[in-house]
Amino acid sequence: MDDKISVLYSEETINARIKEIGEQISRDYAGKSVHLVGILKGATFFTCELAKRITVPVTMDFMSVSSYGDSTESSGIVRITKDLDDPLEGKNVIVVEDIVDTGNTLSYLLDNLQKRGVDSLRLCALLNKPERREKDVVVDYTGFEIPDAFVVGYGLDYAQKYRNLPYIGIIEP
Ligand code: 5GP
Repeated sequence: MDDKISVLYSEETINARIKEIGEQISRDYAGKSVHLVGILKGATFFTCELAKRITVPVTMDFMSVSSYGDSTESSGIVRITKDLDDPLEGKNVIVVEDIVDTGNTLSYLLDNLQKRGVDSLRLCALLNKPERREKDVVVDYTGFEIPDAFVVGYGLDYAQKYRNLPYIGIIEP
């Protein structure tokens, strides 16, 4: 049986917001270049759409992380399952993530990347659930702040499904 999904943000709304964030980043990094680090797999669509909206020079890389244990609850122990191809030394890095929930994943990851000789390090997340935060993580660029609900689409999955939905929706359990 199909899961029931109600639309939270349409494709048009998401694209308009990504355009705004791209413009903001282009202003903030005027005269510099940015290196986007997209977190697989959830942030793939967002990273690519965002890259298209940034007018300063952009390079891109991707990495994959996973939490140990139960995959539906963040354990705070994070493992890098695919590391970056290129070094971060001297780069203005923006980590691009699908959603910041407890903050456990990003807290570990930002700490890890900070030690790689970056010139600067910022975080851009399409979605942010501040209510759920366990670790203090500063999100420099946020697409949308959402309440505590499980969302899918635009890269976000439920058991690997629904990543390809062009909108973001709340899935009924
Ligand atoms: P955190 O470490 O911040 O708790 O977890 C972040 C990760 O949990 C995200 O990258 C994402 O994979 C997953 N996650 C958290 N909330 C949601 C949600 O509402 N929907 C989906 N599909 N994944 C989520």
